[in-house]
This record gives sequence, structure tokens and C-alpha cells, in this order.
Amino acid sequence: MRLVLLGAPGAGKGTQAKILSEKFNVPHISTGDIFRSNIKNGTELGVLAKQYIDKGGLVPDELTVKIVKSRLAEPDCSEGFVLDGFPRTIPQAEQLDAVLTEMGIALDKVVDIHVDDDKIIKRLADRRVCPGCGASYHLEYNPPSEGDICKVCGTKVIQRPDDSPETIKHRLQVYQSQTKPLIQYYNAQGKLVTAYGQEEIEDTTSEVMKALGVKK
Ligand code: AMP
Repeated sequence: MRLVLLGAPGAGKGTQAKILSEKFNVPHISTGDIFRSNIKNGTELGVLAKQYIDKGGLVPDELTVKIVKSRLAEPDCSEGFVLDGFPRTIPQAEQLDAVLTEMGIALDKVVDIHVDDDKIIKRLADRRVCPGCGASYHLEYNPPSEGDICKVCGTKVIQRPDDSPETIKHRLQVYQSQTKPLIQYYNAQGKLVTAYGQEEIEDTTSEVMKALGVKK
């Protein structure tokens, strides 16, 4: 299964991508996670990416595509993958198509997870993440343990710096102008399916599976 998950920041792409990756036994590839791990490790890529991420902008296409291209060439991607947060622009999507064609493969489906704007803002503001293992929480619907402790690894959870109110606003503008056009792009390819992601995590998973035509 070769999938792309589309959706606004906070739509639940990461959570659903993780579930899909386990279900189909294929790697979950999140460009955001790759950048964050490079930032944490102080690599050259991390230093560069941080300048864009902290402002809520996008890391340049050339760099992002290069990273995804080399990740897709790794052996664990041979049976499929779930791309989360990539592509985010039309040029990225075009270059992804070119890379996959070169590899003799193609995407199976692109799932757009739709969540209304007002809900997105609240979700991002209430999102907490574990800097230790990357687990994601929501203060109301999926809270960490008491004292803001990660249930998986026991690290104190934090708010992502790019989930601050000013940065959220900018990220949503970037989504509207640069990423939303991908819905039309993949619709024209006949690959787009839509899942409503308004409610609980399990409801969204059911929607995603239904959209993909597979049993949960
Ligand atoms: P995410 O974890 O997917 O919300 O990504 C966090 C941030 O990483 C984004 O706001 C961007 O600054 C950057 N980023 C992630 N994926 C991409 C991409 N495909 N293209 C450009 N920038 C990206």
C-alpha cells in the first residue's frame, strides 16, 4: 500500500499514519518528524530546517524532496509506505510523481483528512508532544498522564514551538495557499479519497479505512 495523507496541520495525519503503517506493515514517513529529529541532533539539515519551521513556513522544496527521495530508496519501503506531511506543495507532488515513476511504482491512494478550521485551531493549541518518543497528545481528548508525563516513555510532554498561536495562524495560511491545491491535483489523477476527521481518533480511523475500502 503506497499512501499519502493530506490535511491541514492538526487534522490528525500523524496519528492516522501511525495506525495505517501498523495495519499495512509499511513505514510511516513524516517529513516533520525527520526535520524534528535532525533539529534535536543538531545536524546541518536540522539547523537549516529550524529557520523555516519556527516561523511556520515550509522548508524549501528542493531540500525536502531530496530527503524523501533517499528515504523512499531504503529497502523497508519496497512493499509500500505512508507519507505524512509530504507532499505539501504542487512542485513537491510533481517531483514525487517523477521519483515514483523512476522507481517503476505509483501511489495507490491519497487520503484527505478533513477537519473544519475552528476545530483545527483548538486542536493545535491543545496538542502536546513527547520530546522523547514523539507520542502525540491532546489535553482534552487524549491527555498525557498526570503532571504532563508521556504514557509511553515517561518524559515530560511539551507544546511544539510551532504550535504557538501566532505560528498556528501562519501555518494555516500556508496550508490554504500551498497545500490545499493538492486536493485538486490528486483528484484529477483519480487517487483522492476523503475522510472526515472531526471526531475521536477511532472515528477518524474508521472513516479512513472506509475511504480506502478496507476493513478496520
Ligand atoms: P508537521 O510535523 O508535518 O506539521 O511539520 C512541521 C513543519 O515541518 C512544517 O510546518 C514545515 O515547516 C516543515 N515541513 C514538514 N513537511 C514539509 C514539507 N513536505 N515541505 C516543507 N516543509 C515541511
